[in-house]
Amino acid sequence: MEISLAVAIGFVVAFSLASLIFHFEKKTLRKNFEREARTYLAQARQEQSESDRILSAIDLGIIYYDPQGQISINNQAAHDLLAQVPDNFHAFLDTYGQSNGMAAQIALGKSYSSALIPLQDRMIYISIQAVGQSPSLAHVVLVRDATRQYQEEQQRKEYVSNVSHELRTPLTTLKSYSESLIDWGIAEKQRSQILKDVQKIYDESTHMEQLIEDLNLLSSLDEASIHRYMHIELLDIAGLVKNLVDRMQGQAQERGLEMHAYVVNQVPRIYGDRNQMERIVANLITNALKYSRDQGHVDVYIGAIRDEVYVKIKDDGIGIDKDQQAKIFERFYRVDDSRARQSGGRGLGLAIVKELVDLQQGAISLESTLAVGSEFTIMFPSEKKILRQALYEFTTDGHASNALTEAAEEDLAELARSCGLVAKWNGLQGPEHQRLLRAINDLT
Ligand code: ADP
Repeated sequence: MEISLAVAIGFVVAFSLASLIFHFEKKTLRKNFEREARTYLAQARQEQSESDRILSAIDLGIIYYDPQGQISINNQAAHDLLAQVPDNFHAFLDTYGQSNGMAAQIALGKSYSSALIPLQDRMIYISIQAVGQSPSLAHVVLVRDATRQYQEEQQRKEYVSNVSHELRTPLTTLKSYSESLIDWGIAEKQRSQILKDVQKIYDESTHMEQLIEDLNLLSSLDEASIHRYMHIELLDIAGLVKNLVDRMQGQAQERGLEMHAYVVNQVPRIYGDRNQMERIVANLITNALKYSRDQGHVDVYIGAIRDEVYVKIKDDGIGIDKDQQAKIFERFYRVDDSRARQSGGRGLGLAIVKELVDLQQGAISLESTLAVGSEFTIMFPSEKKILRQALYEFTTDGHASNALTEAAEEDLAELARSCGLVAKWNGLQGPEHQRLLRAINDLT
């Protein structure tokens, strides 16, 4: 009896203990499971919000239409780029795929289709990619703003067509003059006529040669190639311009025009390339002489305003209409095509001038009134301005940002030495910095 009671009690205790352990284990398991599930959910939520963040950060529009054709993913860029984002794929094709053949291609079972469509003032590139197996196909739509590429492509096409046109004109003359010499034969023509024809052939080949040289220069002028074309040094711009005006007096007199140069006030030196600076000013003076009227005047002013040096070339010639003023810096643009051509104009001069001015950190502007005259002004930073900029760049970034500040480094180091400073730009202390700035300002 006692034994059986003991066994029974033992059994009850063991059972209670086992069920306690079982309950405890179950609870722990559930807790573990819940914790794992929570972690997993948090991770999934985090991944979801990360992919949402990625989707909303990229400037490529993304839309995903599920196999039922319903929209299931789309980002902000898609809404920004498209006027509206339809809820289903059919409506999308109706809105954006009809006139360009995308809807037809998808209907024919093509897995990929794309088109460039004009939307408001932009060109939007849309591509559609089918994913999965037919008949349950989903579609990924990518939307991109292709306005800039489109414009660049148009400009390239226009440029190539302009170049061929410009080359064809002298070529036609070369061909017809040489043909006439072949057809009539040298023996049948008078010597003076033959000379005239050959001179024409020579002039047109020279014209072609210059055109090709200008095109070559234009295509290679950029920041990267500046060292090949320019040797930047400190220039006495007032002296350079006065000297150039003297050398061009002959051309002015040939046309019966009066030309003068005036130095308005004290003109500081500037950083630039001597040859290219002469080319810029010579081109502007040539134009002023070319587009002038009888007994006209060309005046060249050189002066300084605060930290800028300017050269102004003023004529009282034919002037340029307001509508045309912005365009004359474009390649091949001529206001009066026949007059410009007659005087040998290729419409590239001002485009080259603008590039050369930009490369030397300058600016060019134009004021003109039709039938009254034009005023072209070029401005360049003074020596002091470039030295201050160089000091700022060396002490903050540790290197020069352009060819001018790069050329100024040695002069700045020399100035620092003359102030008793060792030119270690990144170690320059506040008071030393101030001393160097004062030394720059004190330069004449
Ligand atoms: P071009 O070789 O034809 O002179 P440019 O690029 O130098 O080419 O000039 C572009 C056009 O700008 C010229 O064809 C001319 O119509 C106009 N233009 C330039 N300078 C003047 C000026 N000083 N007065 C009037 N028109 C000018």
